[in-house]
Amino acid sequence: MRDREVDYLLIGGGLASANCARWLRQEGAEGDVLLVGREPDPPYNRPDCSKGYLRGAESREEPLFRPDEWWSEQDIELLTRTSVTGLDLDARTAKLSSKQEVGFDKALIATGANVRRLNVEGCELEQIHYLRTLGNADAIRDGVADAEQVVLIGGSYIGCEVAASLTLMGKRATIVMQEQATLERGFGPRVGRFFQELLESHGVTVHAGDELERFEGDGSGSGQVAKVITRGGLELAADAVVVGAGVTPDVQLAQRAGLQIGERGGVLCDSRLQTSAPGVFAAGDMCEYESVIHDGARVRLEHWDVAFNHGKTAALNMLGRDVPHETVPYFYSVLGDWGELEYVGPAYEWDEEVLRGSLDDGSFTNWYLQDGTVKAALTFGRSDDLDHGRRLIVGKAVLGEAARAALGDLGADLATVGPGGHS
Ligand SMILES: Cc1cc2nc3c(=O)[nH]c(=O)nc-3n(C[C@H](O)[C@H](O)[C@H](O)COP(=O)(O)OP(=O)(O)OC[C@H]3O[C@@H](n4cnc5c(N)ncnc54)[C@H](O)[C@@H]3O)c2cc1C
Repeated sequence: MRDREVDYLLIGGGLASANCARWLRQEGAEGDVLLVGREPDPPYNRPDCSKGYLRGAESREEPLFRPDEWWSEQDIELLTRTSVTGLDLDARTAKLSSKQEVGFDKALIATGANVRRLNVEGCELEQIHYLRTLGNADAIRDGVADAEQVVLIGGSYIGCEVAASLTLMGKRATIVMQEQATLERGFGPRVGRFFQELLESHGVTVHAGDELERFEGDGSGSGQVAKVITRGGLELAADAVVVGAGVTPDVQLAQRAGLQIGERGGVLCDSRLQTSAPGVFAAGDMCEYESVIHDGARVRLEHWDVAFNHGKTAALNMLGRDVPHETVPYFYSVLGDWGELEYVGPAYEWDEEVLRGSLDDGSFTNWYLQDGTVKAALTFGRSDDLDHGRRLIVGKAVLGEAARAALGDLGADLATVGPGGHS
């Protein structure tokens, strides 16, 4: 029995849903827009959780997607602390944890991702943290207040960003990771080593090529973590631990509703971000879509800008505009105040890297090519190169030797690389 009807039901209280709601109204959607989110906070920008907000440099309001009054001004109904517990796609109804049943015309599923939890001996000890929400950031900030040594498990974005933030907070941060160099899974060993050396030069200790075996307490019965034991035989003192072991897309609701799941683990969508159910769209971390700029390859990414832009594309298509999602995926990561990397792509694989600029000078762009075609570009301090990266990724030209040499030559104008110039 339906308790109410809405025109647009947005499931998930994160960035993708929030930006979808914004664009629905901006593009003239009439009727009810209901956004249902499980968290206590209204939609906010998660990246702040490992950066300024974690360090205590930002207020609770700063990460918010919009100030509280904006939602009512836009006539968008926001239900926080509420989960969608079931979806009936034939009846077009959703069950909420409040026991209400809501009928909808169009729906967005943007349920994001969940952190991967480590199930090892000692994992129940206190002061072992994961980081996804503002509440998690609060718990870490409180938990490390009296800590000297903090161990980070994982050498990817969360591990590196949190290590940088904690160092700026006066803590001694140690990273334990399986990789040989930080961030190498996404960017390769050369660039990975650059970021590792940047962290080390600011006092972060990195143990590469090792793995967590177990956590130990101090034997006093306090229940607090005191040591991290690695498979390689290290015993690291730890007043607190932050685990950054990746995330998995949250597709439970979608799967139960019968939506198709793709090989990258996301809800399968076409180029319009429509799922296998007509009028039901997906966006953000859990959306696996057919990317027109990648020749129809299925792409699923866990990045702020992607979720933001998905929200817009989904809104336009909910309004019947029939537009493909054509934004070149972009993301950034910030290591304290030591620098910021930016990336366009993604390159899931590559067979050649070309470096423009200098790692030693901390100003470079690394190009990732496959069969002579630019697939991705990572920059540190050379943001202007990214527009050329976008053009080359979309253009898909196979670059000859002269063009590839120009990519790596600071004296060559990047505008001359690709169609019309060096090729
Ligand atoms: C600490 C941290 C730092 C980051 N830093 C960067 C960065 O520097 N650069 C970058 O590009 N990206 C960064 N990201 C990634 C970026 O924040 C995410 O890609 C983005 O938030 C994804 O948005 P989303 O809307 O898809 O999902 P989410 O933001 O995860 O939102 C999904 C929401 O849906 C809720 N939900 C789930 N199931 C239900 C349900 N059944 N009913 C109701 N609600 C539900 C969840 O509780 C959650 O609130 C960072 C992420 C984290 C955690």
